[in-house]
Amino acid sequence: MAHIELKHVCKTYENGFEAVKDFNLEIGDKEFIIFVGPSGCGKSTTLRMIAGLEDISEGELLIDGERMNETEASDRDIAMVFQNYALYPHMTVRKNIGYSLHIRHEKKDVMEKKIQEAAEILGLEEVLDRKPSQLSGGQKQRVAMGRAIVRNPRVFLMDEPLSNLDAKLRGQMRVEIARLYHKLNSTFIYVTHDQTEAMTLGTRIVVMKDGVIQQADTPENLFRYPVNQFVAGFIGTPPMNFTEAVVKYDGNKIYLDSGSRRIDLAEEKAERLEKGGYIGRAVVLGIRPEHIALTPGEAEDAHGGGTVDVYEMLGSEAIVYIGKEKKEDKLVVKTDASVPVRAGEKVSCYYSLEHIHIFDRATGRTITN
Ligand code: ATP
Repeated sequence: MAHIELKHVCKTYENGFEAVKDFNLEIGDKEFIIFVGPSGCGKSTTLRMIAGLEDISEGELLIDGERMNETEASDRDIAMVFQNYALYPHMTVRKNIGYSLHIRHEKKDVMEKKIQEAAEILGLEEVLDRKPSQLSGGQKQRVAMGRAIVRNPRVFLMDEPLSNLDAKLRGQMRVEIARLYHKLNSTFIYVTHDQTEAMTLGTRIVVMKDGVIQQADTPENLFRYPVNQFVAGFIGTPPMNFTEAVVKYDGNKIYLDSGSRRIDLAEEKAERLEKGGYIGRAVVLGIRPEHIALTPGEAEDAHGGGTVDVYEMLGSEAIVYIGKEKKEDKLVVKTDASVPVRAGEKVSCYYSLEHIHIFDRATGRTITN
Protein backbone atom coordinates (compact mmCIF):
# COMPACT_ATOMS: atom_id res chain seq x y z
CA MET A 1 0.00 0.00 0.00
CA ALA A 2 1.42 3.38 -0.90
CA HIS A 3 -0.27 6.65 -1.50
CA ILE A 4 2.20 9.35 -2.45
CA GLU A 5 1.62 13.08 -2.47
CA LEU A 6 3.98 15.73 -3.73
CA LYS A 7 2.81 19.17 -2.63
CA HIS A 8 4.42 22.27 -4.13
CA VAL A 9 7.74 20.44 -4.35
CA CYS A 10 10.69 22.48 -5.64
CA LYS A 11 14.33 21.67 -6.11
CA THR A 12 16.99 24.35 -6.28
CA TYR A 13 20.54 23.00 -6.61
CA GLU A 14 23.43 24.61 -4.73
CA ASN A 15 24.44 26.63 -7.79
CA GLY A 16 20.98 28.25 -7.75
CA PHE A 17 19.55 26.21 -10.66
CA GLU A 18 15.85 25.48 -10.24
CA ALA A 19 15.46 21.95 -11.57
CA VAL A 20 11.89 21.30 -10.34
CA LYS A 21 9.26 23.98 -9.85
CA ASP A 22 6.04 23.73 -7.85
CA PHE A 23 5.50 20.03 -8.57
CA ASN A 24 2.06 18.84 -7.41
CA LEU A 25 0.98 15.26 -7.87
CA GLU A 26 -1.06 12.69 -6.02
CA ILE A 27 -0.19 9.09 -6.80
CA GLY A 28 -2.72 6.48 -5.82
CA ASP A 29 -1.91 3.05 -4.48
CA LYS A 30 -0.82 0.59 -7.20
CA GLU A 31 -0.53 3.21 -9.90
CA PHE A 32 2.18 2.94 -12.55
CA ILE A 33 3.32 6.51 -13.02
CA ILE A 34 5.68 7.50 -15.81
CA PHE A 35 7.79 10.67 -15.88
CA VAL A 36 8.66 11.77 -19.42
CA GLY A 37 10.08 14.92 -20.94
CA PRO A 38 13.14 16.23 -22.75
CA SER A 39 16.60 15.75 -21.31
CA GLY A 40 17.17 17.97 -18.27
CA CYS A 41 13.48 18.61 -17.51
CA GLY A 42 13.79 17.34 -13.93
CA LYS A 43 12.54 13.74 -14.14
CA SER A 44 15.43 12.11 -12.30
CA THR A 45 15.63 14.94 -9.78
CA THR A 46 11.97 14.39 -8.86
CA LEU A 47 12.47 10.63 -8.60
CA ARG A 48 15.57 11.11 -6.44
CA MET A 49 13.68 13.44 -4.12
CA ILE A 50 11.01 10.76 -3.66
CA ALA A 51 13.73 8.19 -3.00
CA GLY A 52 15.44 10.44 -0.45
CA LEU A 53 18.66 10.68 -2.46
CA GLU A 54 18.17 14.40 -3.00
CA ASP A 55 16.93 17.02 -0.51
CA ILE A 56 13.58 18.69 -1.17
CA SER A 57 14.20 22.45 -1.27
CA GLU A 58 10.58 23.47 -0.76
CA GLY A 59 7.25 21.71 -0.43
CA GLU A 60 6.28 18.39 1.04
CA LEU A 61 6.49 14.70 0.21
CA LEU A 62 3.93 12.50 1.93
CA ILE A 63 3.80 8.72 1.78
CA ASP A 64 0.63 7.22 3.21
CA GLY A 65 -0.10 10.56 4.83
CA GLU A 66 3.24 10.80 6.60
CA ARG A 67 5.74 13.59 5.87
CA MET A 68 8.91 12.07 4.44
CA ASN A 69 11.10 15.13 3.77
CA GLU A 70 13.41 14.43 6.70
CA THR A 71 13.23 10.61 6.56
CA GLU A 72 16.42 8.84 5.51
CA ALA A 73 16.31 7.04 2.16
CA SER A 74 16.79 3.67 3.86
CA ASP A 75 13.75 4.27 6.08
CA ARG A 76 11.31 5.20 3.31
CA ASP A 77 10.54 1.63 2.28
CA ILE A 78 11.26 2.41 -1.35
CA ALA A 79 13.38 0.39 -3.80
CA MET A 80 15.09 2.01 -6.74
CA VAL A 81 16.34 0.37 -9.96
CA PHE A 82 18.80 2.45 -11.96
CA GLN A 83 19.93 2.51 -15.56
CA ASN A 84 23.38 1.31 -14.42
CA TYR A 85 22.35 -1.67 -12.40
CA ALA A 86 25.92 -2.32 -11.14
CA LEU A 87 25.75 -5.88 -9.90
CA TYR A 88 28.54 -7.14 -7.63
CA PRO A 89 30.72 -9.09 -10.10
CA HIS A 90 32.25 -11.44 -7.53
CA MET A 91 28.89 -12.52 -6.11
CA THR A 92 26.49 -15.10 -7.52
CA VAL A 93 23.03 -14.06 -8.67
CA ARG A 94 21.65 -15.51 -5.41
CA LYS A 95 23.98 -13.32 -3.34
CA ASN A 96 23.37 -10.25 -5.46
CA ILE A 97 19.62 -10.59 -5.04
CA GLY A 98 19.89 -11.31 -1.32
CA TYR A 99 22.48 -8.67 -0.50
CA SER A 100 20.11 -6.11 1.04
CA LEU A 101 18.61 -8.84 3.24
CA HIS A 102 22.07 -10.04 4.24
CA ILE A 103 23.14 -6.60 5.48
CA ARG A 104 19.86 -6.36 7.40
CA HIS A 105 20.82 -9.67 9.09
CA GLU A 106 17.70 -11.38 7.81
CA LYS A 107 17.32 -15.01 8.93
CA LYS A 108 18.81 -17.49 6.47
CA ASP A 109 15.64 -19.43 5.74
CA VAL A 110 13.57 -16.24 5.28
CA MET A 111 16.26 -14.86 3.00
CA GLU A 112 16.38 -18.02 0.91
CA LYS A 113 12.59 -18.03 0.57
CA LYS A 114 12.50 -14.43 -0.61
CA ILE A 115 15.31 -15.00 -3.10
CA GLN A 116 13.53 -18.05 -4.43
CA GLU A 117 10.26 -16.14 -4.82
CA ALA A 118 11.95 -13.27 -6.64
CA ALA A 119 13.80 -15.71 -8.89
CA GLU A 120 10.52 -17.41 -9.78
CA ILE A 121 8.79 -14.13 -10.59
CA LEU A 122 11.71 -13.10 -12.79
CA GLY A 123 12.50 -16.49 -14.32
CA LEU A 124 15.99 -16.59 -12.82
CA GLU A 125 15.82 -19.96 -11.03
CA GLU A 126 18.24 -21.59 -13.46
CA VAL A 127 20.95 -18.98 -13.08
CA LEU A 128 20.98 -18.38 -9.32
CA ASP A 129 24.46 -19.82 -8.93
CA ARG A 130 26.02 -17.96 -11.83
CA LYS A 131 28.13 -14.81 -11.62
CA PRO A 132 26.97 -11.66 -13.47
CA SER A 133 29.63 -12.15 -16.18
CA GLN A 134 27.83 -15.36 -17.18
CA LEU A 135 24.50 -13.60 -17.77
CA SER A 136 22.88 -11.87 -20.74
CA GLY A 137 21.99 -8.17 -20.56
CA GLY A 138 18.35 -8.95 -19.92
CA GLN A 139 19.19 -11.42 -17.17
CA LYS A 140 21.43 -8.85 -15.47
CA GLN A 141 18.61 -6.34 -15.60
CA ARG A 142 16.28 -8.88 -14.03
CA VAL A 143 18.78 -9.53 -11.23
CA ALA A 144 18.77 -5.78 -10.55
CA MET A 145 14.99 -5.97 -10.28
CA GLY A 146 15.28 -9.03 -8.06
CA ARG A 147 17.33 -6.99 -5.61
CA ALA A 148 14.44 -4.51 -5.43
CA ILE A 149 11.70 -7.16 -5.20
CA VAL A 150 13.16 -9.03 -2.19
CA ARG A 151 12.88 -5.86 -0.15
CA ASN A 152 9.13 -5.97 -0.66
CA PRO A 153 8.98 -2.17 -0.82
CA ARG A 154 5.92 0.07 -0.74
CA VAL A 155 7.14 1.80 -3.89
CA PHE A 156 9.37 0.87 -6.83
CA LEU A 157 11.27 3.70 -8.45
CA MET A 158 12.91 3.01 -11.80
CA ASP A 159 15.20 5.44 -13.59
CA GLU A 160 15.48 4.43 -17.24
CA PRO A 161 16.04 0.80 -16.26
CA LEU A 162 16.07 -0.45 -19.85
CA SER A 163 18.10 2.19 -21.60
CA ASN A 164 21.28 0.08 -21.71
CA LEU A 165 19.61 -2.75 -23.58
CA ASP A 166 19.27 -3.26 -27.32
CA ALA A 167 15.90 -2.70 -29.00
CA LYS A 168 14.77 -6.34 -28.97
CA LEU A 169 15.68 -6.94 -25.35
CA ARG A 170 14.05 -3.66 -24.39
CA GLY A 171 10.84 -4.91 -25.91
CA GLN A 172 11.05 -8.19 -23.99
CA MET A 173 11.90 -6.49 -20.72
CA ARG A 174 9.08 -4.03 -21.17
CA VAL A 175 6.64 -6.91 -21.26
CA GLU A 176 8.32 -8.42 -18.20
CA ILE A 177 8.00 -5.19 -16.26
CA ALA A 178 4.30 -5.03 -17.14
CA ARG A 179 3.94 -8.59 -15.86
CA LEU A 180 5.89 -7.79 -12.73
CA TYR A 181 3.67 -4.82 -12.03
CA HIS A 182 0.53 -6.93 -12.24
CA LYS A 183 2.05 -9.62 -10.02
CA LEU A 184 3.47 -7.35 -7.34
CA ASN A 185 0.57 -4.95 -6.98
CA SER A 186 2.87 -2.16 -5.78
CA THR A 187 3.17 1.49 -6.77
CA PHE A 188 5.65 2.07 -9.58
CA ILE A 189 7.24 5.36 -10.63
CA TYR A 190 9.28 5.07 -13.79
CA VAL A 191 11.44 7.56 -15.70
CA THR A 192 11.93 7.03 -19.41
CA HIS A 193 12.74 8.72 -22.71
CA ASP A 194 10.98 5.97 -24.59
CA GLN A 195 7.50 6.76 -25.90
CA THR A 196 6.49 3.14 -26.25
CA GLU A 197 7.49 2.35 -22.68
CA ALA A 198 5.59 5.39 -21.44
CA MET A 199 2.44 4.68 -23.42
CA THR A 200 2.31 0.94 -22.79
CA LEU A 201 3.36 0.72 -19.14
CA GLY A 202 1.88 3.80 -17.54
CA THR A 203 -1.51 4.03 -15.89
CA ARG A 204 -0.72 7.77 -15.94
CA ILE A 205 2.02 9.74 -17.59
CA VAL A 206 3.49 12.97 -16.25
CA VAL A 207 4.89 15.12 -19.04
CA MET A 208 7.49 17.61 -17.78
CA LYS A 209 9.28 20.56 -19.34
CA ASP A 210 11.81 22.87 -17.67
CA GLY A 211 10.99 21.48 -14.23
CA VAL A 212 7.25 22.08 -14.61
CA ILE A 213 4.47 19.49 -15.05
CA GLN A 214 2.70 20.16 -18.34
CA GLN A 215 0.07 17.45 -18.04
CA ALA A 216 -0.48 14.36 -15.89
CA ASP A 217 -3.02 12.05 -17.44
CA THR A 218 -3.74 8.62 -18.88
CA PRO A 219 -1.85 7.69 -22.07
CA GLU A 220 -5.07 7.90 -24.07
CA ASN A 221 -6.01 11.34 -22.78
CA LEU A 222 -2.52 12.70 -23.43
CA PHE A 223 -2.75 11.48 -26.99
CA ARG A 224 -6.29 12.65 -27.66
CA TYR A 225 -6.61 15.70 -25.46
CA PRO A 226 -3.20 17.35 -25.02
CA VAL A 227 -3.46 20.56 -22.97
CA ASN A 228 -0.87 22.41 -25.03
CA GLN A 229 1.26 22.28 -28.14
CA PHE A 230 4.27 20.95 -26.23
CA VAL A 231 2.43 17.86 -24.98
CA ALA A 232 0.80 17.40 -28.39
CA GLY A 233 4.22 17.38 -30.05
CA PHE A 234 5.90 15.27 -27.40
CA ILE A 235 3.44 12.38 -27.23
CA GLY A 236 3.03 10.32 -30.39
CA THR A 237 5.43 8.97 -33.02
CA PRO A 238 6.01 10.31 -35.58
CA PRO A 239 5.14 13.60 -33.85
CA MET A 240 2.09 15.71 -34.64
CA ASN A 241 2.39 18.03 -37.67
CA PHE A 242 2.02 21.75 -36.94
CA THR A 243 1.23 24.51 -39.41
CA GLU A 244 0.16 28.08 -38.99
CA ALA A 245 -3.26 29.11 -40.24
CA VAL A 246 -5.59 32.08 -39.99
CA VAL A 247 -9.12 31.67 -38.67
CA LYS A 248 -11.55 33.11 -41.22
CA TYR A 249 -15.29 33.53 -41.59
CA ASP A 250 -16.91 33.63 -45.05
CA GLY A 251 -20.32 34.81 -43.81
CA ASN A 252 -21.49 31.25 -43.55
CA LYS A 253 -18.73 29.08 -42.12
CA ILE A 254 -15.65 29.42 -39.96
CA TYR A 255 -12.61 27.82 -41.58
CA LEU A 256 -8.83 27.79 -41.43
CA ASP A 257 -6.78 29.41 -44.17
CA SER A 258 -3.28 27.95 -44.34
CA GLY A 259 -1.94 30.06 -47.17
CA SER A 260 -3.22 28.53 -50.35
CA ARG A 261 -5.52 25.97 -48.73
CA ARG A 262 -8.90 26.10 -47.05
CA ILE A 263 -9.67 23.72 -44.21
CA ASP A 264 -13.27 23.56 -43.08
CA LEU A 265 -13.89 22.82 -39.43
CA ALA A 266 -16.18 20.57 -37.48
CA GLU A 267 -18.94 22.65 -35.88
CA GLU A 268 -17.75 22.23 -32.30
CA LYS A 269 -14.22 23.36 -33.14
CA ALA A 270 -15.51 26.35 -35.08
CA GLU A 271 -17.62 27.35 -32.09
CA ARG A 272 -14.65 27.22 -29.76
CA LEU A 273 -12.69 29.49 -32.06
CA GLU A 274 -15.53 31.94 -32.31
CA LYS A 275 -16.17 32.00 -28.57
CA GLY A 276 -12.45 32.49 -27.91
CA GLY A 277 -12.39 35.53 -30.21
CA TYR A 278 -10.00 33.92 -32.68
CA ILE A 279 -11.68 34.98 -35.94
CA GLY A 280 -9.15 36.90 -37.98
CA ARG A 281 -6.25 35.69 -35.84
CA ALA A 282 -3.40 33.29 -36.61
CA VAL A 283 -3.43 29.97 -34.76
CA VAL A 284 -1.44 26.74 -34.91
CA LEU A 285 -3.13 23.76 -36.50
CA GLY A 286 -2.01 20.33 -35.34
CA ILE A 287 -2.74 17.06 -37.10
CA ARG A 288 -1.27 13.66 -36.30
CA PRO A 289 0.41 11.66 -39.08
CA GLU A 290 -2.17 8.89 -38.64
CA HIS A 291 -5.04 11.30 -39.15
CA ILE A 292 -4.10 12.28 -42.69
CA ALA A 293 -5.30 10.40 -45.75
CA LEU A 294 -3.12 10.38 -48.85
CA THR A 295 -4.06 10.20 -52.51
CA PRO A 296 -1.71 10.20 -55.47
CA GLY A 297 -1.62 13.33 -57.61
CA GLU A 298 -2.51 16.96 -56.97
CA ALA A 299 -6.04 17.91 -55.97
CA GLU A 300 -7.31 21.46 -55.52
CA ASP A 301 -9.58 20.73 -52.60
CA ALA A 302 -6.82 18.94 -50.59
CA HIS A 303 -5.77 20.28 -47.17
CA GLY A 304 -2.10 19.86 -47.95
CA GLY A 305 0.27 18.05 -50.24
CA GLY A 306 3.40 18.22 -52.30
CA THR A 307 6.20 15.98 -53.46
CA VAL A 308 7.11 12.90 -51.45
CA ASP A 309 10.62 13.42 -50.13
CA VAL A 310 11.14 10.12 -48.32
CA TYR A 311 8.98 6.99 -48.20
CA GLU A 312 9.67 4.64 -45.30
CA MET A 313 8.10 1.24 -45.64
CA LEU A 314 7.59 -0.40 -42.21
CA GLY A 315 5.71 -3.54 -43.23
CA SER A 316 1.97 -3.05 -43.00
CA GLU A 317 2.38 0.73 -42.62
CA ALA A 318 4.51 3.40 -44.21
CA ILE A 319 5.74 6.80 -43.07
CA VAL A 320 5.62 9.36 -45.85
CA TYR A 321 7.63 12.60 -45.57
CA ILE A 322 6.20 15.24 -47.86
CA GLY A 323 7.90 18.44 -49.01
CA LYS A 324 11.31 19.68 -48.02
CA GLU A 325 12.00 23.09 -49.47
CA LYS A 326 9.04 25.15 -48.40
CA LYS A 327 8.63 24.58 -44.69
CA GLU A 328 4.88 25.23 -44.65
CA ASP A 329 4.34 22.36 -47.07
CA LYS A 330 6.17 19.82 -44.93
CA LEU A 331 4.01 17.02 -43.59
CA VAL A 332 4.58 13.57 -42.18
CA VAL A 333 1.88 11.01 -42.87
CA LYS A 334 1.44 7.50 -41.49
CA THR A 335 -0.45 5.45 -43.99
CA ASP A 336 -1.36 1.94 -44.95
CA ALA A 337 1.52 0.51 -46.97
CA SER A 338 -0.89 -0.44 -49.74
CA VAL A 339 -1.41 3.25 -50.70
CA PRO A 340 0.46 3.53 -54.00
CA VAL A 341 2.85 6.45 -53.45
CA ARG A 342 6.62 6.59 -53.76
CA ALA A 343 9.43 9.13 -53.30
CA GLY A 344 9.43 11.86 -55.95
CA GLU A 345 5.70 11.59 -56.65
CA LYS A 346 3.09 14.30 -56.04
CA VAL A 347 0.46 13.54 -53.41
CA SER A 348 -2.57 15.21 -51.87
CA CYS A 349 -3.40 15.13 -48.17
CA TYR A 350 -6.80 15.20 -46.53
CA TYR A 351 -7.07 15.79 -42.79
CA SER A 352 -9.57 13.92 -40.69
CA LEU A 353 -11.47 17.03 -39.63
CA GLU A 354 -12.61 15.76 -36.27
CA HIS A 355 -8.97 15.05 -35.33
CA ILE A 356 -7.67 18.56 -35.93
CA HIS A 357 -6.13 20.24 -32.86
CA ILE A 358 -5.87 24.00 -32.67
CA PHE A 359 -3.45 25.89 -30.42
CA ASP A 360 -3.06 29.51 -29.41
CA ARG A 361 -0.03 30.80 -31.28
CA ALA A 362 1.24 32.98 -28.44
CA THR A 363 0.72 30.73 -25.40
CA GLY A 364 0.74 27.30 -27.05
CA ARG A 365 -2.40 26.41 -25.08
CA THR A 366 -4.97 24.15 -26.70
CA ILE A 367 -8.04 25.95 -28.02
CA THR A 368 -9.75 22.79 -29.20
CA ASN A 369 -8.86 19.11 -29.56
P1 ATP B 1 17.77 13.20 -18.48
O1 ATP B 1 16.61 12.73 -19.26
O2 ATP B 1 18.83 13.82 -19.32
O3 ATP B 1 18.26 12.23 -17.48
P2 ATP B 1 16.26 14.60 -16.41
O4 ATP B 1 14.94 15.13 -16.85
O5 ATP B 1 16.26 13.37 -15.60
O6 ATP B 1 17.22 14.49 -17.66
P3 ATP B 1 17.59 15.82 -14.17
O7 ATP B 1 18.72 14.84 -14.06
O8 ATP B 1 16.51 15.75 -13.18
O9 ATP B 1 16.96 15.78 -15.62
O10 ATP B 1 18.21 17.28 -14.17
C1 ATP B 1 17.39 18.43 -14.22
C2 ATP B 1 18.25 19.64 -14.37
O11 ATP B 1 19.02 19.85 -13.18
C3 ATP B 1 19.27 19.56 -15.51
O12 ATP B 1 19.33 20.79 -16.18
C4 ATP B 1 20.57 19.25 -14.80
O13 ATP B 1 21.66 19.78 -15.51
C5 ATP B 1 20.39 19.95 -13.47
N1 ATP B 1 21.15 19.32 -12.40
C6 ATP B 1 21.14 18.00 -12.07
N2 ATP B 1 21.95 17.77 -11.01
C7 ATP B 1 22.47 18.97 -10.65
C8 ATP B 1 23.39 19.42 -9.62
N3 ATP B 1 23.89 18.55 -8.74
N4 ATP B 1 23.69 20.73 -9.59
C9 ATP B 1 23.16 21.60 -10.48
N5 ATP B 1 22.29 21.26 -11.44
C10 ATP B 1 21.96 19.96 -11.55
